[in-house]
Amino acid sequence: MRGMTAFSRPDGRKNDELRPVSFEADFAPNATGSVLVSFGDTRVICGASLEKRIPGWMRAQGVEGGWLTAEYSMLPYSTHDRKQRDSSRGRLDGRSVEIQRLIGRSLRAVMNLKKLPGYTLWIDCDVLQADGGTRTASITGAYLAARLAVQKLIDEGKLKENPFSDSVGAISVGIYKDNAVLDLPYVEDRDASVDFNVVMTGKGEYVEVQGTGEEATFSEEQLASLLALAKIGCKEISSMQTAFLSKRLLAGLGS
Ligand code: UDP
Repeated sequence: MRGMTAFSRPDGRKNDELRPVSFEADFAPNATGSVLVSFGDTRVICGASLEKRIPGWMRAQGVEGGWLTAEYSMLPYSTHDRKQRDSSRGRLDGRSVEIQRLIGRSLRAVMNLKKLPGYTLWIDCDVLQADGGTRTASITGAYLAARLAVQKLIDEGKLKENPFSDSVGAISVGIYKDNAVLDLPYVEDRDASVDFNVVMTGKGEYVEVQGTGEEATFSEEQLASLLALAKIGCKEISSMQTAFLSKRLLAGLGS
């Protein structure tokens, strides 16, 4: 803490405290697996659909296994000022392309696509309400939706084993008013001088660290404190994912 004035966050959270996190299964029943993930007021619908076909290039090149692809979009009313649909604009915005690639890479890092023979796993992340951290919430929820989808196929006898070798989750961290903080809502994100998105596996390995100084720089010490916060957040997220999945898988799917 700097100076004499005590630092406080707009929502009163501690620096290393996550917003209230929740996962609601089967939010979109026609997807093979689905989860509505909430981090405070950020809410994302994550749908995972398994389709028995693979991209043409895989067939042409005789590549074994399956494929995973991710799409990300913000619903028009998810933001304060209505955001025009990409389909009406006639093109996908660069930010969405960047985010959907990140979601795809994050999930592919913890799975063996050879164990998904002949299938494409479609991940759709649609932001219902945006209040910062939509990409990290998407990754966290997409893993759960994908895991539920895969389990459904295993239970139906269509898939021999679980292609996931680990879980994956993500969180944002940043420097807000000179303080390193975890899980930034929009009001903090807007004024943050440093903005990071960290993707980690359940075993505590990094998948991706995206970090930038927004018209500012950061020190090695600040970098270390940001990563330490991200680790705390990802560890908590991973335990919540495990608790959610064990409850769901014990209850039995498809029933
Ligand atoms: N945002 C918005 N409209 C946009 C892009 C972003 O209102 O077109 C808001 C939204 O609340 C989002 C936040 O800005 O969550 C931070 O956006 P950023 O690009 O950093 O991605 P995110 O933190 O959601 O992963």
